[in-house]
Amino acid sequence: MNTTFDVAVIGAGIVGSAIARKLAGHELSVALLDARDDVGDGTSKANTAILHTGFDAKPGTLESRLVGEGYHLLSEYAELTGIPVEHTGALLVAWTAEELDALPGLREKAEQNGYHRTEIVGPEEVYRQLPHLGEGALGGLTVPDESIICTWTTNLALATDAVNRGVTLLLNRAVTSVEDLGDRTVLRASGGDVHARWVVNAAGLGADVVDRLFGHDRFTVTPRRGELLVYDKLARPMVNKIILPVPSSRGKGVLISPTVYGNVLLGPTAEDLVDRTDTGTSEKGFEFLLGKGEKLMPDLLLEEVTATYAGLRAASDHPDYLIEADAGRRYVLVGGIRSTGLTASIAIAEHVAGLARDAGLALVPRERLPEPPRMPNLGEAFTRPYQDAARIAADPAYGKVVCFCERVTAGEVRDTFRSPIPPATLEGLRRRTRAMNGRCQGFFCGAEVKKLLEERR
Ligand SMILES: Cc1cc2nc3c(=O)[nH]c(=O)nc-3n(C[C@H](O)[C@H](O)[C@H](O)COP(=O)(O)OP(=O)(O)OC[C@H]3O[C@@H](n4cnc5c(N)ncnc54)[C@H](O)[C@@H]3O)c2cc1C
Repeated sequence: MNTTFDVAVIGAGIVGSAIARKLAGHELSVALLDARDDVGDGTSKANTAILHTGFDAKPGTLESRLVGEGYHLLSEYAELTGIPVEHTGALLVAWTAEELDALPGLREKAEQNGYHRTEIVGPEEVYRQLPHLGEGALGGLTVPDESIICTWTTNLALATDAVNRGVTLLLNRAVTSVEDLGDRTVLRASGGDVHARWVVNAAGLGADVVDRLFGHDRFTVTPRRGELLVYDKLARPMVNKIILPVPSSRGKGVLISPTVYGNVLLGPTAEDLVDRTDTGTSEKGFEFLLGKGEKLMPDLLLEEVTATYAGLRAASDHPDYLIEADAGRRYVLVGGIRSTGLTASIAIAEHVAGLARDAGLALVPRERLPEPPRMPNLGEAFTRPYQDAARIAADPAYGKVVCFCERVTAGEVRDTFRSPIPPATLEGLRRRTRAMNGRCQGFFCGAEVKKLLEERR
């Protein structure tokens, strides 16, 4: 490739996509690179999908500020683009005297984080709000603005918006070494080198490795695996809000949450690994989660588990997000984005743009930008194509269901191939439509969906 881009962003997860989109709002040529064959195929595809208010973040940290800002920015962006969000609220439940004693401190922390709507409630109120909760809850803290969101649509919307703004998306480009040519950096990558005046490293689990290629040695990523169980839709009426544990030094703990697809999640675990690719689930994790679920909500365990999955948090030895610009190398590190990067993504992008500008990147806003994309709706709280008589009358493909568990239509599958970032694989199609995501996990529709994909490839 002969072009020298003004900026190359490494990593097309939620964070890198948000940064590429933000920078492309300026008079800059921007490339967005990823080692994988799709956007959002790393940690951003497998999380708990909660849009956090940031009430429990460590006050005064960069993470606390960016999560708080990100909550509002992503809520607004979701309205514009049709990313499904449900403002269900959360109830943090205390099960021991020690946890009950921790509630005032958590409330105070929320206040310090600028979130003023929590309330401490007694056990009667806890059971009024959550009648299916297991026995023994002593009290709780309400967090009325905690919300659920579709992480897949968020990543795709940000990347699509970036591409619509002129970003060059380069998939299957794993950056393996870099060369400093003085006025620009050459990113040596599988699939071809990329030249750029500035580089933003948003490589998630690989951010420390890329950082070392730029001559730094300031942090190490530890993949912290989180396994989750997905319960069938029949469980959803039992869980109309997010049920949180009292957080510990190990993280946010095991929660129960509704999903925007109408399921219920139980998880995640927190287990430090060495292998940065090990997203497999384990019998140990399954047993651990069932044990937690038994106490939290025994009725939930009577429902069917339709799927399990695991994601890897990019935990690090640094206690906060590690976002720093190196003006000399024209390079910005965006590291240590662990358990809150979905929520904070747009605020991180704003912050990175500011840092890069202060370090010398000229940011001249573009006068006319394309409208943000309107994304296909995957959420149960909003009308889906199979329910929309007028849409089906105008285009019968929206009346032809191909995945019966999730009620995905041929029209939606077709639309993905006409979109700015079409799917390359069945997994990519699953994230864009929900096809094969239901209780049969593709047993009935898999062959038909695969055929549709192969016809288009
Ligand atoms: C179990 C779990 C639960 C979570 N729950 C929530 C939640 O409820 N709410 C919330 O806000 N956050 C949550 N998170 C955190 C959130 O998912 C992450 O912070 C976010 O997805 C990080 O996005 P990212 O773009 O930094 O990383 P990624 O999505 O991993 O993207 C990084 C990309 O960089 C690419 N890459 C890496 N190395 C290279 C290279 N050398 N060359 C080219 N490309 C490269 C990878 O292929 C990858 O696609 C959770 C995380 C986990 C694991």
